[in-house]
Amino acid sequence: MTAKIIDGKLIAAQMREELKTQVAKLKEKNIVPGLGVILVGQDPASISYVTAKERACENIGIYSDDNHLPADTSQAELIELIKKMNEDPKINGILVQLPLPDHIDESQVLLTINPQKDVDGFHPINIGKMVAGEKAFLPCTPHGIIKLLQRSNVKIEGAEVVVVGRSNIVGKPIANMLIQKSDFGNATVTICHTRTRDLAAHTRRADIIIAAAGRPATITADMVKDGAVIIDVGVNRIEDASKKRGYRLVGDVDFEAVKQKASLITPVPGGVGPMTITMLLYNTVESAKIAHSIE
Ligand code: NAP
Repeated sequence: MTAKIIDGKLIAAQMREELKTQVAKLKEKNIVPGLGVILVGQDPASISYVTAKERACENIGIYSDDNHLPADTSQAELIELIKKMNEDPKINGILVQLPLPDHIDESQVLLTINPQKDVDGFHPINIGKMVAGEKAFLPCTPHGIIKLLQRSNVKIEGAEVVVVGRSNIVGKPIANMLIQKSDFGNATVTICHTRTRDLAAHTRRADIIIAAAGRPATITADMVKDGAVIIDVGVNRIEDASKKRGYRLVGDVDFEAVKQKASLITPVPGGVGPMTITMLLYNTVESAKIAHSIE
């Protein structure tokens, strides 16, 4: 069997078009969804993520209030800015790019964000609501994975899912979403990590494997059942002298070999990655609709 590719770029582009239409409809009612973006410091990776988010907003008609602050910004100044955004009716979502400089307490900052504007879904109130199965802003990468599965017609209900990784931003939330009694849940989920005794024994019985370990070739072909669905969240740099920048990006899955056994597989790049920003836009539009009591 050769797997079909789940084209994350295409699905993300389709969702962005749908969001663009929704934003245009909101504009007819004089509502412009707004995202407050805060970057502290000059970390090159953070600058490129934030720039991509700002551009994505612009492309679909979301107003983005961009705040690029110097690295020596104090915690008090940052909290003051977030409080202003909390009160600003033009802002429906607040994004604080992580990581923050060492002198700032990240959890204190995230706690300051109004949970109703927490479009990253990192506030403990939103995490608690998600766990309790209540309506909440869902964190963007796992929410993007759910959309990829749904739009690829993968049956989640009743499926054996093995999640490799237990981080707060990917492993734990995706596992949690998949066990909910909901139209994107009802799966039987196993979470694996570095203390798991026999990773392959778990992955071999999985209908769906979600690899979020951050290590190349964590999932090899012998660890995969015929016909399994493979979602590769990992983004790893591998030295590659043939590339101008000296490296290439790979996921956590041995893509070429696993593709021969799986039924569906996400590539890296071009799989989960494009969905993450899309879900940030999605949450921002949802927040604007909630703020104006629009279904
Ligand atoms: P993380 O915080 O480093 O967590 C990695 C998890 O994987 C940990 O729970 C770790 O176990 C587990 N793990 C590592 N090696 C393992 C192994 N050999 N066997 C079993 N478990 C193993 O990483 P993260 O933030 O969740 O990110 C994971 C990957 O996804 C990274 O490559 C990251 O760049 C990528 N990512 C991509 C996107 C996107 O939008 N495409 C978004 C977020 C993250 P322990 O807990 O025991 O240490």
